[in-house]
Formats: sequence, structure tokens, C-alpha cells
Amino acid sequence: MHTPTPPQFPLLDALDHELTALDAQSLRRRRRTVESACGPRVEVAGETLLAFASNDYLGLAADPRLAQAAALAAQRWGVGAGASHLVSGHSRAHEALEEALAEFTGNQAALLFSTGYMANIAVMPALLGRNGDIFADRLNHASLVDGAQLARASLNRYAHVDMGMLAAQLAASTAREKLIVSDAVFSMDGNIAPLAQLLELAERHNAWLLLDDAHGFGVLGPQGRGSVAAAGLKSERLIYMGTLGKAAGVSGAFVAGSRKLIDWLQQRARPYIFTTAMPPMLAEVLLSALQLIEAADDRRAHLTALIAQLRTGLAAQQSRLMPSSTPIQPLLIGDNAATLAVAEALHARQLWVPAIRPPTVPVGAARLRISLSAAHSLADVDTLCQALSEILPA
Ligand code: PMP
Repeated sequence: MHTPTPPQFPLLDALDHELTALDAQSLRRRRRTVESACGPRVEVAGETLLAFASNDYLGLAADPRLAQAAALAAQRWGVGAGASHLVSGHSRAHEALEEALAEFTGNQAALLFSTGYMANIAVMPALLGRNGDIFADRLNHASLVDGAQLARASLNRYAHVDMGMLAAQLAASTAREKLIVSDAVFSMDGNIAPLAQLLELAERHNAWLLLDDAHGFGVLGPQGRGSVAAAGLKSERLIYMGTLGKAAGVSGAFVAGSRKLIDWLQQRARPYIFTTAMPPMLAEVLLSALQLIEAADDRRAHLTALIAQLRTGLAAQQSRLMPSSTPIQPLLIGDNAATLAVAEALHARQLWVPAIRPPTVPVGAARLRISLSAAHSLADVDTLCQALSEILPA
């Protein structure tokens, strides 16, 4: 009997070829399926792993008080918003959360987004057109790079935290609309941007300053009000972006700033306008999370102790340990395959530390991204340091 030859689709074969090439370069990402709630110990493939792999910095993602708040909120609000904010999806719960976030971060107003990625691709296109100039740190998060591209303005990338290069780029710009954008805490390095100098340059050159505080909100500053509060900065030109899926333990994000800015974003931020609002039950849970953040000085103090313990415990790895005072503590390995091999050796000891490789970090700068949570104990950190000292030559 004649069997028909399957139809040829070379485009699909090309993808398969690319995937094989990624494998060969140790660049193919493999996700693991987690069978338990987020926390220092997670179940994966029948094993319990001690994980240094989440952004749950305050240990709130599985907090029973928030799980309880979620159950009650679902009874009141159901599970879905049913529409976008400007149609009929904007609830009292969203409104209350926006007001609380604005007040908490010392801003006139705030606007909720479903994710930080969406907030970051929303702001720049709403504020700048083709004739604008954007100035971006080379190590900014991918969502900020994408946001700049969507704005279709000219993108000037300056070397990481190089304020001299930024100043020169600003001085050379003839655009009327200018925006400087930076991670406040760099997501793969853990260092804090020079916030006061960034604001000073924004003021001198009449530019907006967009700061992405995904990793500082809830962690830094008085009561966890974020890195801008920690630096004591205030300005009408400052646009503050915070995320709600990391220290806050849930999901979502917000942009805070002047009332006029937020009113404008409501009219022009497309990822705000053309998407279903976050479930109101989550907005209500986040209101409880915000109260927990504010009262979590003990957790932040414990986190500081964990960071000190890790850095002391890894003193023999001084040359690899990147300079960071935040819960993001990367160990620079360099080579992709070598980084993966260390992560695998840790896995063999029931430890989970992600191997971060290009394109998330520059080529040749693969690393282990150790992230600490207030839910870890000092003994957990010792376990990790001991394993690393056995695996890595000093
Ligand atoms: N900005 C930074 C600096 C981040 O690290 C992340 C998350 N990895 C985001 C934005 C995106 O936030 P979300 O996960 O809420 O989309």
C-alpha cells in the first residue's frame, strides 16, 4: 500500500535544528516542575530540594495569612475581574490597593498592572514617540529593553552604571522628550543603581527617570518602602515601578508617580488598557501583603543576617562572589557548561541554585544566582556554603 510522504515544513525543522544547537552550547533552558508551594524546601521529581532560586524575599508567597485572605477574598469577589479596568473590571479592591501603594511609596498616585513585564512595556511608549531619546543601562531587565523598542524612540545604552557615559549621551541629545531608565536593583547582579546621580542627571537634562524596583520594593528602605525611599529621593520626574510577585509574594505590578502622570498612563498605556484587570481577589490579598511587608522589619533584619552569613561563608570564593548587599548574591563562573556543571553538582546534593546564562546575562558571564529569602535559616545558608566549598576550588 502506498503511504503518503508527510508534508515538508522546513520552518519547523529549522527550529529543531536551533534547539539542538542550544543544547550543544549548554544554553537550552530546562524548567523543573515543582509539586509544592514556593518556599525554602520544594518537592521536585520525588526529591525535596533546598532552594535558593525564587524572588520570594520575605517568604510571603506561601504565608498562611495570605492564603486565608485569598479564600475570603474569593468568596467576596469571585475569581475573575471579567473585563479590563476602563470597561468594567476596575473594582473597589483595585482602587484601595492603588491608593495604598501610592501612599506606601510616597507618591501622589499609582496604577496597577497585571505583571511587571507589562508595566515596563507600557510606560515608555506612553511617554515618548519616535523623536524621543531613551537612555538605558546596558544591564537593564529585558522588559525595559522591550519597552524602549516599543516606544520606537532612539535607544542609547550606556555601560553598566557608567554615569560619565550617560552624562555625555544626555549632553549630545537634541530631543525634547528624554527618558532615563534603570533597574534600581539589578536583577542578575544584585547591585543598586546610583539613584541620586541618576536623578541629578535627569534634572539637569530635563528628562524623565524611570526606575524599576522589582527587587527593592518590600526589601529596601524604611518598612520596605523600596530603594527610592531608601535613598530619600523625591521628584515629579521620577516614575517608580514596583512588582508584586517578588517580595509581596503574589503577582502584579504598579507604576507610581505624580497624579498627572498616572492620569496620562490611564489614557495611553496600552498594556493597561487592552487587558483584563488582575482578579480583584488578588488585589485584596495584595492589600494584606502590603500590611505584612510594612510590619516585616524582623524578616528584613533576618535577611540582612543571612546575606552576611552567606558572604562570610563564601569568603574563599571572593573572586567569584559579586559585590551585592541585596538578597541577590550571584557567583560568577563565566563559562556556560561550567556553570551548569556546578548547578548540577549542587542538585546532586539536593540544592537548587539556578544557572543563569546568556542571553539573560552577557556572553562569558554565566553565573549561579543565589537568592535568599527570610524563610531560609542560617543553617540553610551554611549547608549551601559547605556544598559550594566542596564543589568549587577556592
Ligand atoms: N523588572 C525586573 C528587574 C525583573 O527582574 C522582573 C522579573 N524577573 C520584571 C521586571 C518583570 O516582573 P514580572 O515578573 O512581574 O513580570
